[in-house]
Amino acid sequence: MNKNKVVIIGSGLGGLACGVILAKNGYRVTVLEQGSQIGGCLQCFQRHGVKFETGMHFIGSADPGQTLDRLMRFLDIRDRVPLSRLDSTSYDVVCIDGRHFHIPFGREAFIRQMTDYFPLQHDNIVRYYELVEKVAGASSLHSLRFDQTDTAVSAAYQLRAIDSVIDELVSDPLLAKVLVGNLPLYAAERGRTPFSTHAFIMDFYNQSAYRVVGGSDLIAKALTEVITENGGEVLTRSKVTRILCDDEKATAVEINGGDILTADYVISDAHPVRTLELLDTKLIRPAFRQRIQNIRQGVGCFSLYLHFKKDTVPYLNSNFYGYEYGTPWECEDYDEMSWPKGYLYMHLCHEPQPRYAQTGVILSYMHMRDVERWRGTMVGHRGADYERFKAEKTERLLDVVERQFPGLRGQIEHVYSSTPLTYLDYTGTEDGSMYGIAKDVSLGAACRVPHRTRIPNLLLTGQNINSHGMLGVIVGAIVSTSEMVRPEEIYRQIKETGI
Ligand SMILES: Cc1cc2nc3c(=O)[nH]c(=O)nc-3n(C[C@H](O)[C@H](O)[C@H](O)COP(=O)(O)OP(=O)(O)OC[C@H]3O[C@@H](n4cnc5c(N)ncnc54)[C@H](O)[C@@H]3O)c2cc1C
Repeated sequence: MNKNKVVIIGSGLGGLACGVILAKNGYRVTVLEQGSQIGGCLQCFQRHGVKFETGMHFIGSADPGQTLDRLMRFLDIRDRVPLSRLDSTSYDVVCIDGRHFHIPFGREAFIRQMTDYFPLQHDNIVRYYELVEKVAGASSLHSLRFDQTDTAVSAAYQLRAIDSVIDELVSDPLLAKVLVGNLPLYAAERGRTPFSTHAFIMDFYNQSAYRVVGGSDLIAKALTEVITENGGEVLTRSKVTRILCDDEKATAVEINGGDILTADYVISDAHPVRTLELLDTKLIRPAFRQRIQNIRQGVGCFSLYLHFKKDTVPYLNSNFYGYEYGTPWECEDYDEMSWPKGYLYMHLCHEPQPRYAQTGVILSYMHMRDVERWRGTMVGHRGADYERFKAEKTERLLDVVERQFPGLRGQIEHVYSSTPLTYLDYTGTEDGSMYGIAKDVSLGAACRVPHRTRIPNLLLTGQNINSHGMLGVIVGAIVSTSEMVRPEEIYRQIKETGI
């Protein structure tokens, strides 16, 4: 047993995944969560006896032997998290100007289906698909092909924007839009978001896609179980209020402004801006502080949580992306009149193979500036103006979604909503951003946050470090913990899961 004590700040996917890797490798792990629930964006909430997901809604590459399946086995959670496969012929439906495009899993099906829609583009579709596979495969941790990493390919496509690469590959403008139909999954921005981000997401979901039966909080519960079984602990209502340092390193954390917990290592899963607020030490240079504080955050979202009347809404085994202005691009660039320019609509899978949905969620971009005037107010006590604001946005969003799902309003028993402020308060994400720091090809490394800090035993993890989402955050946790467990040993453990 390694006697080193690790304190992890935050029980989001990143914190818990680090906790599992380290606890299984002999470290004494304590995960401290400020909230009353574990999970960060994996949290669910219940109203009137039904459950809603607040962040993660579906995951990819979980067929036996695929990347996430193997990573979930490596983390010991594959058998603890029940999954339900989305429709293999149409896991995503992209609706542009009322026309529906169904996206299937797998190379052959994808190429066949897209060629049906765009017969003259067959060769371009093949070239596009092969490039996505090549770029995703170039990262050893995204593909788990350890001996085939091609860092040159990876680096090149981190510096090229999605639209510039796709416009070069395909000559039909509508096809170019359909190929980015799921861009709310990574809040992509024209001219800014790297093609590599698009490739990782497309490759991840094109292999297979699943919902968690019963809600994404089961992922957090499963990870916590593994930590506990390996001698660690996960404590809620334990907000880290300071990271204490001597002249060289971190020594302890302060919890809720009082108790001190000593640590040999500290890993922070909190947003980097939040982590810096905990550090009052000259070990962190002012230039680094300033760079992190100035990095732009990705857009936040307005979420509608729908509780349906019993047995009225057939379960939708697909994700539905609707666009009102003829394109998935620039939905973040709205004004009072044009909001919402697009949305993502999904159902929660509350039991295996449900016939009817109990609950659904609709997400649409929203910036913090829209709710800035209520910043600093408390959840549930933001005042009548805020409630009016949310009610008006709810009606606007339902109006738009009803164009594709007529009669939806009549099927709703209760509806609840959240804004970027909710995410700020529940997870600490700066500006209420969904996926954290915005990647930007024109800034390159300047908008990236390293997992190492100048404090040798303080590491960072989570969606702001590598990339967001189930795969991105687990890959980030592997990178962060490989500072403490030899990378060869981690790879060996992952390889052992090969089936
Ligand atoms: C609306 C939405 C939909 C999404 N949908 C999907 C999806 O379908 N599929 C997918 O793969 N990904 C999805 N994602 C992304 C994914 O959920 C996130 O990338 C991932 O869960 C983030 O994990 P994390 O560990 O980085 O951070 P977080 O989940 O933000 O966790 C950080 C944790 O740190 C805690 N914390 C912060 N400060 C402190 C402190 N001082 N002391 C103690 N605790 C602290 C917070 O309370 C929080 O629990 C979605 C995200 C959002 C917002």
